[in-house]
Amino acid sequence: MNDELAVRLKAFEGRPAAVAGRGKDPVNAPMIRHWCEAMGDNDPAYTGPDAIAPPTMLQVWTMGGLSGHTGRSGAYDELLGLLDEAGCASVVATDCEQEYLLPLRPGDEVTFDAVIESVSERKTTKLGTGYFVTTRMDVRVGRDLVGTHRFRILKYAPAARNQKNQRNQRNQRNQPNQPNQQTPRRPRPVVNRDNAGFWEGVRQHRLLIQRCTGCGTPRHPWLPGCNGCGSLDWDTVEASGDGTVYSYVVMHHPPFPAFDPPYAVALVELAEGVRMISNIIGVPYDKVRIGMPVRLEFQDCDAELVLPVFRPREAAV
Ligand SMILES: [Zn+2]
Repeated sequence: MNDELAVRLKAFEGRPAAVAGRGKDPVNAPMIRHWCEAMGDNDPAYTGPDAIAPPTMLQVWTMGGLSGHTGRSGAYDELLGLLDEAGCASVVATDCEQEYLLPLRPGDEVTFDAVIESVSERKTTKLGTGYFVTTRMDVRVGRDLVGTHRFRILKYAPAARNQKNQRNQRNQRNQPNQPNQQTPRRPRPVVNRDNAGFWEGVRQHRLLIQRCTGCGTPRHPWLPGCNGCGSLDWDTVEASGDGTVYSYVVMHHPPFPAFDPPYAVALVELAEGVRMISNIIGVPYDKVRIGMPVRLEFQDCDAELVLPVFRPREAAV
């Protein structure tokens, strides 16, 4: 049965995935500026009268936006439908590969065609079993090929093993008094060379804020250099522990092991002027408010993990 499916899937190779697509906007300076700001890319090649678009914006000029794509071919939908029917209803994007052949400049009007380049054999991955589908988009200005954009997805049936594990984790959470069951642990922070000092401070119940010795600007999270003056020299100041809730969200979904939704995740502004993400404890999630004064505490989560958290000042012990 699966062999028959593989043959049918292979037959889609070389068929169009999108035909005669047209960029919704010509290449333009405002979109380039916004992209550069979002990416923090200050390369002078992207501004001024001779500006080119950052090559990695290639896909931007072909995107359908919220109103969706036009020109998607029947063949691509048919291929995905066939995989859905075969039980491969889940999808994950696995990789993207681009080639840049000519620079794009403001005013260029982009057209594109996409082809179903390949459909893999049936593969079993950690996520499940399915097929990798690769499409290649050729982007043109006039008759010139300016770049190609290869995009690969895995259409798969989720592994049953994973579902069972998730069920077990849910059951464990719902039966807290059972002996011999492992309580899920809070995720570990990623400690690296740049932030090791912060986590060492937390371990000692001290919240250390980095401070640039060039211009005196405090910063958090810890970074190798100062965004204000570029200096790589810094020292630390210990936070007084006073702060206010600058903003917050309440997490309802998705569930994570070791977390018990709903709970509030807050961006706390410290008295020293930096902001950090943490939990607000000692108050129901729906009583957290922007502007609420809070006080730092250290929570010993387990033998290896201490986390800085905040408690509303009125409720502080
Ligand atoms: Zn500085």
